[in-house]
Amino acid sequence: MTLALAAASAAGAEDEAARARRIHADLIGVDSHIDTLQRVINQGVDLSRRQPGSHVDLPRLKESGMVAPFFALWAPMYYQGGEAVRRTLQMRDAMQSLFDAHPDQIELATTAADVRRIAGTGRIAAVLTVEGGHQIADDLAILRMYHRLGVRSMTLTHFRNNNWVDSSTDRPRHGGLADFGRQVVREMNRLGMIVDVSHVSDQAFYDTLKVTTRPVIASHSSCRALSDVPRNMTDDMIRALARNGGVISINFGAGFLNARDAEALRQRIGAMAATEPALTGRALDEFNAADYIREFGQMFPASATLEDAVAHIDHAVKVGGIDHVGIGSDWDGINSVPAGLEDVSKMPALTEALLRRGYIEGDVRKILGGNLLRVLEEVTGR
Ligand SMILES: [Zn+2]
Repeated sequence: MTLALAAASAAGAEDEAARARRIHADLIGVDSHIDTLQRVINQGVDLSRRQPGSHVDLPRLKESGMVAPFFALWAPMYYQGGEAVRRTLQMRDAMQSLFDAHPDQIELATTAADVRRIAGTGRIAAVLTVEGGHQIADDLAILRMYHRLGVRSMTLTHFRNNNWVDSSTDRPRHGGLADFGRQVVREMNRLGMIVDVSHVSDQAFYDTLKVTTRPVIASHSSCRALSDVPRNMTDDMIRALARNGGVISINFGAGFLNARDAEALRQRIGAMAATEPALTGRALDEFNAADYIREFGQMFPASATLEDAVAHIDHAVKVGGIDHVGIGSDWDGINSVPAGLEDVSKMPALTEALLRRGYIEGDVRKILGGNLLRVLEEVTGR
């Protein structure tokens, strides 16, 4: 390489870092899955201040431009029936306390217009999701009340089958989506709630697409072609999701991204399914807190790097098209993170890598939020 060429490419690299910073300065970044609320209810973390032990807090969300995260109200599946409903209300209450204490930093968003308005005033627009379907206790009335409480998306199940849909990490029981599951999808369509197909079995995914009249999302799944875990999407599923108008949001968990980390993820999922405490009320909540801290209290080393996340985004774009890929980091719900992408503050580095790969600014903005905002608008209305 000549000196002049070396100087030119160094200038180009600088240029991409500067362009990434500029994009993130006014970005409406949408992340369709973060588990940060678990740190609030299990560890008493105050999100209004910097939390070095978490992947996400309000100051870092704002600085990174990822201003519209989907906060997951996640109750593990050992919360059953009314217990799952109680836990969900407790988490909704914790979000409300955050809204009430810090209206200058965060507000509930129930439409795409809300997201744009709240982001326009320099605050975090919180979209609420429920993970997963067991939390409605097999009752559409509960689903409707969650909608009235501002919930705008629901993952149909979690690591195990529930009474009406099969999980990707359990032995099939319903052969996909059962009759009541079809009713749930139709009711979510009618209410204006995004159906989230992360965690469902492949058959349940295709069954859901047959029923839904609106775009669906895989809120935190990556590409199975690159990391072969059942939680990721096959190329055929990515194409089907694109035809539906939906979005696959890339999960940053190391096992989702890198084949060398996938075995650890498989073991983790196996161990999770084995946990079945016979507890209720506060004792169950205490069990959950200890369980969460045991699993997510420290990060485990990984082979995955930021380049793996870029490779998954690139693969999903090639297979499904630029309008059908988003970000679903799973921050605070993963226990090993890629080098270079350790928390939300590193998002500009991801953008820089995409720019270096030749992605134009408009396409980067679609991936970082535009596509998910479009689905939110199509499902919840303006
Ligand atoms: Zn999940």
